[in-house]
Amino acid sequence: MMPIIRPCLDGAEEAAVQRVLRSGWITQGPEVAAFEREFADYTGAAHACAVSSCTTALHLALLVAGVEAGDEVITVSHSFIATANAIRYLGAIPVFVDIRPESGCLDPALLAAAWTPRTRAVLCVHQLGIPCDMAAILAFARGRGIRVIEDAACAVGSALLLEGAWRRIGHSGGDLACFSFHPRKLLTTGDGGMITGEDEALLARLRRLRQHGMSVPDTIRHHAQQVIFESYDELGYNYRMTDLQAAIGRVQLAKLPGMVQRRRELAQRYHALLAGIPGLEVYREPEWIHWNYQSFWVRLPEHCDQKRVMGHLLEHGISSRRGVMCAHLEAPYVTEALRWPLPWSERARDRTILLPLYHDMEAGDQERVAERLREACAQG
Ligand SMILES: *Cc1c(COP(=O)(O)O)cnc(C)c1O
Repeated sequence: MMPIIRPCLDGAEEAAVQRVLRSGWITQGPEVAAFEREFADYTGAAHACAVSSCTTALHLALLVAGVEAGDEVITVSHSFIATANAIRYLGAIPVFVDIRPESGCLDPALLAAAWTPRTRAVLCVHQLGIPCDMAAILAFARGRGIRVIEDAACAVGSALLLEGAWRRIGHSGGDLACFSFHPRKLLTTGDGGMITGEDEALLARLRRLRQHGMSVPDTIRHHAQQVIFESYDELGYNYRMTDLQAAIGRVQLAKLPGMVQRRRELAQRYHALLAGIPGLEVYREPEWIHWNYQSFWVRLPEHCDQKRVMGHLLEHGISSRRGVMCAHLEAPYVTEALRWPLPWSERARDRTILLPLYHDMEAGDQERVAERLREACAQG
């Protein structure tokens, strides 16, 4: 069975885990601190705070951005459900806007109409690793004094041209960016997340909130030459990353440029192989985007049935996935009154699929996918 993605792990990660196991400190500690420093340096951000997942990252990022119960956060429904859920965790209201069909990301032209005096933040998603139009989103938000949080779950290693300079996602203009290290993403720690940002005060608060609101972390008390009593100054959470995960993350981060390069090469081969399929559209990055190809995304010809095409691939041992879900069509959100229809989001969900793309994918594998997809599209 050809998987949709496969984690890129080897003896180097095993050795890193063994080093931590033998060190006597296995929860959040020196490895997490080193991973944060290295991750911040990689993205170009001033600071990074590791957490247990992107979902917990989003929850804390929105919290420190000042989102409170009853506030509105403008976001997309066209995303993994964790994006909308993080808003709900705070008792706030996700205000869904549609996507641009050609990018799968939030359409900034719709922001002005979505704004109300209760809008506290924009939560934009670099969907499947494709950077959002940050220049337009930032122009909108800055003018109104609202925060911009980036759901960069899939976007580690992607970059965009912003104000004339190439910027990696994580240093891409928003107040905070949230990453996922779930195995479905490029860089994995099993589970895990990271928040990057420039504002030291926001990051300091994130560090306290991820560890129960504790004033002095255990790492400092452990090494102290005097007795320190910590205090708990606000409601916190246990959203820590462990040192075992961070040690894996550090190895993965060192491999990341190679992983992105490899995915981009594989994507170019797919472009060539799929070019002749009538009616099939393949997303192409514009010049201002450098995409990590977290997923290889195609729009099926009009006459094709999505489930049948996926079934044909499955019959021939090839995994595929439906395009990105729409939160507004799932149980926790169906009762929420939509302020306007979301035709492009629904169309993207129903008309697109994701194809296998993994580091050690061979030329023959890609040819097989192309051939079976061609057959499936011909059958409709
Ligand atoms: C995967 C994903 C998440 C959730 O990440 P976890 O680390 O699994 O919590 C959130 N948003 C998007 C867009 C994702 O793809």
